[in-house]
Amino acid sequence: MSNLPMVLPVCPASAEHGEMVLRPLAFQTYEQKFCGTWYDCPQCRSSILFPSMELSKVNEEVKK
Ligand SMILES: [Zn+2]
Repeated sequence: MSNLPMVLPVCPASAEHGEMVLRPLAFQTYEQKFCGTWYDCPQCRSSILFPSMELSKVNEEVKK
């Protein structure tokens, strides 16, 4: 959880949508939690992912 931004991300679809909200863990599958931290736009349901340390490790393993 150390690679998260200090400020909430803004919706990639439109800056007018404003800040995105952290997706509650209760609404996430195991795979989603493994991948990292999800943010959703309350206006258009766009979502973005900040990859977890675990996923970064997997990606590095694949590169070798
Ligand atoms: Zn949006």
